[in-house]
Amino acid sequence: MSIRMFMPGHGLYTDTLILYGITLPFCEAFEEQIEREPEFVKARSLGQTYELEIQVDDYAKIAQAIADYVADKQERLSGILTSGPLGFFDESDVKVMRQALTDRERLSDYLKSLAEPGHAELRGEGRDGRGKTMKLPLIPMAGKYLHRDLTKAPSYKAAQYKACNCCCALAALGLAMAAFPVLGGMGRELNRVIVVVSFEGEVNADYFRYFNDFHVRSWEDFYRKLRSVKAAGIRATGAAAQLPLRTVMKLVVSAFSPSLVRCMAGAEARWHALGVNFAGRPRAPQVRGFHDLEVTALIMGLNELYTHGYTLITNLFDVLRSLVESGEGHALEAFLDFIATRDLTDLYVFARGAYSAVEWERTQASGKNRWEIVLSQADQCRELAEILLKSEEA
Ligand SMILES: [Zn+2]
Repeated sequence: MSIRMFMPGHGLYTDTLILYGITLPFCEAFEEQIEREPEFVKARSLGQTYELEIQVDDYAKIAQAIADYVADKQERLSGILTSGPLGFFDESDVKVMRQALTDRERLSDYLKSLAEPGHAELRGEGRDGRGKTMKLPLIPMAGKYLHRDLTKAPSYKAAQYKACNCCCALAALGLAMAAFPVLGGMGRELNRVIVVVSFEGEVNADYFRYFNDFHVRSWEDFYRKLRSVKAAGIRATGAAAQLPLRTVMKLVVSAFSPSLVRCMAGAEARWHALGVNFAGRPRAPQVRGFHDLEVTALIMGLNELYTHGYTLITNLFDVLRSLVESGEGHALEAFLDFIATRDLTDLYVFARGAYSAVEWERTQASGKNRWEIVLSQADQCRELAEILLKSEEA
């Protein structure tokens, strides 16, 4: 006996958040079953949305798992959503979300409504539609404003995008538990990049399990590292967020753990990163850019490295940081592109940038031995290149 759910149809970004909002709590509650039997949960992409199949006989079990999860983590969730890099919400928003997700009966009815495709359309949700206003971080590409020049139309207001409480709350839960934020900027002017991983094809519970392990155990550390990157010449931290959006997205993916990478490489799926760049105050954010980037080749390249026992990309952070701080951000991207494509032009661009970065480090008064660390890591990158080029020949 299994049940099916179709994500509501609020577009790829939002439906991806809702997919995580349902699967991560479920996979935690049914940890033993999914470890034994990964096919217990199956998610399939349907273009801009997903179909989810779970081996339980009742929607109430899924509602129960979500409600327990939210009740159990309420303080943490409220901290994540009201302060820090994902602090787009205030306490009253979080309260509404908590109420929607801990009312088991209503939530169960909502999940049941997803048995039929097109929840959003059937309920009249959407732009100028019915329900509660969905905040921009949950639906950043709603409407046409992305095609407008934001610098010329700062006061342009699109009609509000509306959705029911459960859609909004599950998207917020997905954002809190599955998004990768990168924060940076000068003074009060903050730049926030949010990266969400989506896919085409099919994945099972293993993906959600390894994804969650990485997100919970390792992401915070990498987030802090990214936050500490300085910019050359100006007083700024979190310079990683000032890199081109696609570079930030590739950088986030390069931090994934070997077990997550292995699982993603083995899945019958193509992988995408969805990145949004927000500027302005967190409670009144503006969308400055959106990018959908396929990262399957990068995942495959990383998997090749980890299969050969190569060190984690995060262990090469000093050289990566030095590339950004010395103004060689393009060489950082070339490095990640080389992992994905094995294109020697990229390797050459990286090698030149790394050489400049080492020279730059040498001239910096602070951190006497830093250039030596950077040099030794640049050397490790050469080994990495050899591994990839060798496996290319084989
Ligand atoms: Zn809804």
